[in-house]
Amino acid sequence: MSEMRLVVVGAAGRMGRMLIRAVEEDPGCRLVGAVERPGSSALGEDAGLLAGVGRLSVPITDDPVQAFRGAEGVLDFTAPAATRAFAEAAAEHNLVHVVGTTGLADADLQALRDTAARTRIVQSGNMSLGVNLLAGLVRKVARTLGTDWDIEVLEMHHRMKVDAPSGTALLLGEAAAEGRAVALAERSVRVRDGHTGAREAGDIGFATLRGGTVVGDHSVIFAGAGERIELAHRAEDRAIFARGAVKAALWAREKPAGFYTMADVLGLSEL
Ligand code: NAD
Repeated sequence: MSEMRLVVVGAAGRMGRMLIRAVEEDPGCRLVGAVERPGSSALGEDAGLLAGVGRLSVPITDDPVQAFRGAEGVLDFTAPAATRAFAEAAAEHNLVHVVGTTGLADADLQALRDTAARTRIVQSGNMSLGVNLLAGLVRKVARTLGTDWDIEVLEMHHRMKVDAPSGTALLLGEAAAEGRAVALAERSVRVRDGHTGAREAGDIGFATLRGGTVVGDHSVIFAGAGERIELAHRAEDRAIFARGAVKAALWAREKPAGFYTMADVLGLSEL
């Protein structure tokens, strides 16, 4: 099969540069477009030079319509409002849309699901194999243990991260809630401050740390009477997310319209 023609949006961002590198390194695809927000200092620069992989003759543009023309997929790690707009444009051009953007509100996710009736969208708060496998394990452990085991999700990220809890922490919280057959929205405790009272059985708690250059640390702690189980993942290199996104695009290339997750891509949905 011919190389898949991919566009990276948010091309000058931390993940954007990683995505350009990952596309360049994978023989199954090729970069045909790179998009940044209007006013970005990267506009007009060569995407390959910006990402440190040598000239690719793909200038960074603020015109997604021009970039999407003739492409087959778009890799999007930007911001929620931008992702909603890109979803619409991607559907119009019948592109696979891989969404790594986090901090999506329920309304954003619903809009993506609606758009996925017309095209293929793969969305995940974490595109790595390790975290998606961890989510499956968390689901299993939560299913096995009763609510006399408290579940707490702990995460740490670099000082530049703008949303909390992380998309991965929420993904892991969702897995725990699924295992317990409850709705996360009804059981999650995002903040504790002051005289909170005792912990309620069945709650799923979150704790957020920010600092330095940490790529992404997550632990799910199951705390019982007199013993604890901790399942953890440490991301050491953003390249794992970028490679996952490329894999997702290639996987979705021949799939029918629909809303997919990384668990589908990695064949972990049954865990
Ligand atoms: P970043 O701020 O370095 O990069 C975001 C880029 O998007 C910026 O260059 C910004 O200018 C660009 N952008 C914003 N609006 C735009 C628009 N309308 N058009 C074009 N470009 C636009 O942030 P980052 O660290 O690269 O993270 C980006 C997102 O990816 C965050 O939501 C982050 O949490 C998420 N992320 C997800 C995963 C995953 O596996 N799902 C992994 C890492 C990061």
